[in-house]
Amino acid sequence: MKRYLILISISIFLGSCTKNEKNEINIYSKRHYEVDKLLYKKFEEKTGIKVNIVKAGDDELLERLKNEGLNSPADLYVTVDAGKLQKGVEMELFQKIINDKIDANVRSELKDPHKYWIPITYRARLIVYSKDRVSLDQLSTYEDLANPKWKGRILVRSSSNAYNQALMSAMYANLGKDDVTKWSKGLVNNFARNPKGNDRDQVKAIAAGQGDLAIVNSYYIGLLLSSEKLAEIDAGNSVSIFFPNQAEGDRGTHINISGYAMTKNPPNKENAIKLLEYLTGEEAQNIYVNNSYEYPANPLVNPSDIVSSWGDFKIDNLDLNLLGSFRDDAIKVFDKTGWK
Ligand code: FE
Repeated sequence: MKRYLILISISIFLGSCTKNEKNEINIYSKRHYEVDKLLYKKFEEKTGIKVNIVKAGDDELLERLKNEGLNSPADLYVTVDAGKLQKGVEMELFQKIINDKIDANVRSELKDPHKYWIPITYRARLIVYSKDRVSLDQLSTYEDLANPKWKGRILVRSSSNAYNQALMSAMYANLGKDDVTKWSKGLVNNFARNPKGNDRDQVKAIAAGQGDLAIVNSYYIGLLLSSEKLAEIDAGNSVSIFFPNQAEGDRGTHINISGYAMTKNPPNKENAIKLLEYLTGEEAQNIYVNNSYEYPANPLVNPSDIVSSWGDFKIDNLDLNLLGSFRDDAIKVFDKTGWK
């Protein structure tokens, strides 16, 4: 009995030593949305675990993780692009996250087949069109945006943007090199102006009559429509939403996820798991959809009222890791076809 007690106390002692967890989590984040701050604060209030954030661009954060190696203070990395998560996996920065509760919280179509990252939300990169100058029956697919009927009418931001790089990577994976190059050439020929501004600016340009169609992330329309600025609400109201490639037998609309990966040697692993359980759970997912207007990763949660009003759509089920593998090829297509 005595020996048994000694063994227990030794294992408790070892357990607390080897973990050496503080009551905190360190996150390297590329996300730029207010909703994250709100959710971290709620998590802190619930658990007493302090959430520390380092914000920077993806390439900078991944490089930093690589340089810090096993001594990195970071527990988690979060970004808005499966392609960058895949890049981090390729750089051997992350470990698999195997957890039944988190796994059950997430829609299966969104999951990483290799379990290196956890999706928390997703967004569609869709087409918005002028309610006055375009009719629904003129629209069909991303491919059709290269049709000369759209000459001088299409608005989209620069090719240096990660959302466009992910879209081009998906198009490359789906169409192959020759067809994607032709497509991009045709699309560039149809630009209403040289690419500039962010996604919201493209919608504002439609409202101002500078173009008729734009390629934008879905949540920006929710953000415009729920804005406190009249000009933003007007811009949101000047367009309708179109989900491309929905016809029977077609592949569906391009999406991307926001997701978390866990570092190789996280100082606060248990806390990090707790945070991921919370963020994929129903309470946090409802807060995401009603603040950032993203789609929820949790199948039990509905999108916000605004986003739900657009109806359901078929997701392009491409393995999202390909958004990373085809990134360099996609950038070559941009360069070759003059998409600045
Ligand atoms: Fe964004």
